[in-house]
Amino acid sequence: MRWEAKIELDARGRTFATGLLADLIAALRRSSQGDLLAISGDGPALGVDLDAWCRFTGNTLIGSAIESGRTRWVIRCGAAPANPDADRPPGSRLWLYTNFDCNLCCDYCCVRSSPAAPRRELGLARVQRIARESPALGVREIFVTGGEPFLLADISEILTACAAAAPTTVLTNGMLFSGRRLAELRSLPRGRVTLQISLDSPTPEGHDRHRGPGTWARAWVGIRKARAEGFRVRLAATVSTDAQADAFRRFLDAQQVAEQDRVIRRIALRGFASEGLAFARADLVPEITITAEGVYWHPVGAEDADLLVSREIFPLAESFAAVRVAFEQEREHPRRLAAIFHCA
Ligand code: SF4
Repeated sequence: MRWEAKIELDARGRTFATGLLADLIAALRRSSQGDLLAISGDGPALGVDLDAWCRFTGNTLIGSAIESGRTRWVIRCGAAPANPDADRPPGSRLWLYTNFDCNLCCDYCCVRSSPAAPRRELGLARVQRIARESPALGVREIFVTGGEPFLLADISEILTACAAAAPTTVLTNGMLFSGRRLAELRSLPRGRVTLQISLDSPTPEGHDRHRGPGTWARAWVGIRKARAEGFRVRLAATVSTDAQADAFRRFLDAQQVAEQDRVIRRIALRGFASEGLAFARADLVPEITITAEGVYWHPVGAEDADLLVSREIFPLAESFAAVRVAFEQEREHPRRLAAIFHCA
């Protein structure tokens, strides 16, 4: 993906030692927290200095790409928002992308799902093997997502296999619970399967603006059906501003939704999104994520090359080990920088 930046700098052959640093600091002074700043230069060497400088100054090197034979690095001003899950051991949560097609086409979908997206199915056999191998690797919760998982004919078998391994939450837009799919839902073990249904706003306007006309009302019907069937339902909102988050919290208060059944997150600048929070791998505590194409660092970028850990899923123990080793290396960075940048 190409990150659009607020400020574009051209290094024009300069390095930190020959004048680039002053331009960089001036650009940051014109920026606000979360703004993106791009630097174009010749050759990859500058990236090493930019990475070290960002880590030392509390900014974040989001990524780089070759454009017209030159390298363009993108920096996000400021640190990522505090992560309340930072202490969770990597691998305790496992995410499975069962498919990438969806009945909706939300304009901020982080994995570009839509009715036209190829299915790219993980498949029941692989899910069953993952479910068998994951408890021994420390998995304590499984999250099943997509795309829309309830488009799959074998979704109840997939969820039942996951639920046998660990408590399982399935992320859904909640719009397909009728006919055969309602029967699939009814067959699931209530004590082990939670539904996380997307609802972005207290009233239809905000939700429908991103997800399509009439989708809020259909999601609300799905929430009521799932509750009536005896399922625990978590409501998950994707918002753009703190004011939207506060409005949704007030709505959840009025609905008497328990704290543990609320998920409110900002739009991530990935996939279809044209605005939102930009995240780099270094910002994200890994939540191991498996798709048909391989193992990823985090579900927010489950088709992005910068978050790909391995094309090989199995043996699962090796995939988990690769993520944990990479995480240890990330955590080593601040310690190494502290050793390099002596102030006195
Ligand atoms: S955000 Fe969810 S509901 Fe919307 S297109 Fe993506 S997968 Fe489908």
